Amino acid sequence: MSAELENMAFVGDTDSRIFELNLILRKIPTRVAEARRQLEAEESLLNEVLLPWTQMEDEIQEREATIKIALESIVKFEAHMKKVTTQKEYIAARKQVDEARRLNTRLQDEILERRLNQEELTPRLKERRKTHQNVLETFQGEKAGITDEQARLEKEIAELTGKVEEGLKQLGPSAIQYYQKLIRGGKSPGVVPVIAGSCNGCNMALPPQVYNLLLAANGKLFTCPTCNRITYPQPQEEAPPADAAAG
Ligand SMILES: [Zn+2]
Repeated sequence: MSAELENMAFVGDTDSRIFELNLILRKIPTRVAEARRQLEAEESLLNEVLLPWTQMEDEIQEREATIKIALESIVKFEAHMKKVTTQKEYIAARKQVDEARRLNTRLQDEILERRLNQEELTPRLKERRKTHQNVLETFQGEKAGITDEQARLEKEIAELTGKVEEGLKQLGPSAIQYYQKLIRGGKSPGVVPVIAGSCNGCNMALPPQVYNLLLAANGKLFTCPTCNRITYPQPQEEAPPADAAAG
């Protein structure tokens, strides 16, 4: 095998590996989305209990704030009752105190009712919080694993691309730009062997005369007339050593 052809075979194999790694890389967002969907499903289950519980808690807080105002007004009007000089003023102040007391009693009842409802929900809430926490931890673990894998893939692709470009340099000054144009145009892998007379990129048979020219080029820059990818003749399989044939 000529040194040129050996170089092309290396570039072609490396470019084909880049293509495979890119396929895996492209599936990563889908895998993250799938993991996230499970987490979101668990969040919905949690919210079925957490939202009503929180709503009750908010209503309790509101009532406690109103009770505080009611108690303040009781103190205020009781003090006023001691200072009034007429029966009419006394009755008016008394009425305010009674109303504030009734309001206080009603709000206390409403709070109690909500506390009881909350207590009923508490075991389910605890259970769902626990499950949600587990699913969340699993998701975070999976996401971290996927992110690491993505970084490894990107690093390997960058390294392999460097090797491809190094090999392409030997085809001439514009080979790298030509290759990059192919990749940008969606023609990855951009360097492919011709196997049994057909381009491995587009699967089209090369006309016999073109095929003969490809063989004559023997690893020098040659492009497929159909898909314009850089092509080289698939090197012949070397005969395996006699002792390897047994294994
Ligand atoms: Zn082709």
